[in-house]
Amino acid sequence: MNRRQVLGVIVGGVAAACLPSIAVSAQSYDDARDVYAALRGRPDLKLAIGGGDIFVVFAEGSSALDRDRVAAWIQRSAVAVSTYFGRFPVQRVGLLVIGGEGDHVGPATTYGMESSAMRLHVGADASEAKFRNDWVLVHEMVHLALPNVPRRSEWLLEGNATYVEPIARAQAGQITPQEVWRWAVEDMSKGQPGPGDEGLDHTHTWGRTYWGGAMFWLLAEIAIYEKSAGRYRLQDALRAINRASGGNTTYWEVEQVLAAGDAAVRLDVLMALYNDMKDRPVHVDLDHALQQLGISEVDGDIRFDDGAPLAALRRSITAAPPRG
Ligand SMILES: [Zn+2]
Repeated sequence: MNRRQVLGVIVGGVAAACLPSIAVSAQSYDDARDVYAALRGRPDLKLAIGGGDIFVVFAEGSSALDRDRVAAWIQRSAVAVSTYFGRFPVQRVGLLVIGGEGDHVGPATTYGMESSAMRLHVGADASEAKFRNDWVLVHEMVHLALPNVPRRSEWLLEGNATYVEPIARAQAGQITPQEVWRWAVEDMSKGQPGPGDEGLDHTHTWGRTYWGGAMFWLLAEIAIYEKSAGRYRLQDALRAINRASGGNTTYWEVEQVLAAGDAAVRLDVLMALYNDMKDRPVHVDLDHALQQLGISEVDGDIRFDDGAPLAALRRSITAAPPRG
């Protein structure tokens, strides 16, 4: 199964990434109020990473979990998002870890109501390797960084988490650039418009929401770099949106999000792309974009061409950002 076969919904400021259904034990905390109520209890663990405080509560019935292993997983994921955003994207977040039978890591759900919160399902038999290779928690933590937007534009947030997650892990040295770009080569075309598509704001399929959204952000990455003659990257815009909004407990219109990003890079790239793609099907020339970046797949291997026009952008996207 493809690792990114994710189903997602956003309901009333709740961004959810759901893996195929798995058996979860005892109380499932389906109601966000139950999650918040559980998080009001005394935290079992507190982690301070990237200037943010992460309060972890293990739900009742989670005694079989290896808490050190879970803590290391949360820490590693938080380091990845903090590397990308230059700090942990919110000042504080509560994580409710719900242990169950099996070896699953996820599903997970992010909430931005009264405060930032997450619900994480973890199987007691999940191996060290499974935690180390997990992308779900990094994806969810990227959701903390951007404000909530109207539901029709859920793709903006899901696409952002899909686009940023592997890049954040690569910048933190957790995965290779080849692993990052394999996802674009093999999966991104799932975001192309199909028959009857009416644009990203009106076509709420899984492919358009996650991969159509990710393509939007890849196009933004390239356009910001090209139009600023290499001075700015998408990361600068996303950091600015995170700083201005304070993260996922805020509700903004899409235009406000994009204007904050555009202002940071002194362009109108994000707004122009949105106006182009929101109401009509836009087929992205993905092959051309990957060729420009110098990315190809040969006999199953991801290969890089340093002579490609945008090779420097490709290298900088996954390079460790300067500190500070
Ligand atoms: Zn998501």
